[in-house]
Amino acid sequence: MLNLTGKNALVTGIANNRSIAWGIAQQLHQAGANLGITYLPDDRGKMEKKVAELVEPLNPSLFVPCNVQNDEQIQSTFAAIQEKWGRLDILIHCLAFANKDDLTGGFSQTSRAGFKTALEISTYSLVQLSGAAKPLMTEGGSIITLTYLGGVRAVPNYNVMGVAKAGLEASVRYLAAELGPQNIRVNAISAGPIRTLASSAVGGILDMIHHVEEVAPLRRTVTQQEVGNTAAFLSSDLASGITGQVLYVDAGYEIMGM
Ligand code: NAD
Repeated sequence: MLNLTGKNALVTGIANNRSIAWGIAQQLHQAGANLGITYLPDDRGKMEKKVAELVEPLNPSLFVPCNVQNDEQIQSTFAAIQEKWGRLDILIHCLAFANKDDLTGGFSQTSRAGFKTALEISTYSLVQLSGAAKPLMTEGGSIITLTYLGGVRAVPNYNVMGVAKAGLEASVRYLAAELGPQNIRVNAISAGPIRTLASSAVGGILDMIHHVEEVAPLRRTVTQQEVGNTAAFLSSDLASGITGQVLYVDAGYEIMGM
């Protein structure tokens, strides 16, 4: 039985009710986890209000701003966990960003600044958040990030984000190797295409979804809830032997040759 009662889980990456992180937060809550939620703050406080309203039914005991480009906000997020919970068990890294211009057209035209931004927010942030989580995971832990097939195959328009995801998957392996002796497991879920705010920035996302519906063994795409179920499993003791892996939750699309 999947039971996360007594576990403290920090969930990043909720922007709205389509976010994959929202699907994950709901499943962790249902399994009994105590939740902390971060949001990406903006000048007018709009995101804070929107995410706060959305997550209210999950009764998060921590709700803090965390822009992963801001070292102070990362520091204060983990200081709040230390102060309020004393221990962290689960870290959900579910965020990414690339400039829209870099998610269409020719990959060779990616700008230096665009490359840096994509890799900093989408890849380095996993390394930094894991480093901050490490001293708080005193009873072991589970770190989960979200990746996509574009990290291992050339998917039209995914471009610089594919490079970011390749780096992310390599980071999962290096983090798993380092943190394993502390019984901290690190895994990635490679989700099939789902319509969200972030994925709408990728050119031709609807075509990608329709292609998956035609070709994937299950003849459909996946839902946020299905990704959430896998994240809950990976967070739990049922997955105690799994680390350093990329698990595909994509209706089987990844196995197909044509
Ligand atoms: P989303 O737009 O709902 O979530 C992306 C999140 O990233 C947002 O909450 C946003 O606030 C956050 N973010 C962006 N810049 C940030 C920063 N500087 N600091 C902190 N947070 C920041 O979209 P999503 O599709 O749910 O994306 C979540 C993750 O899932 C991403 O890593 C994405 O690459 C991955 N993923 C998505 C799909 C898909 O098809 N939607 C498929 C596979 C993997």
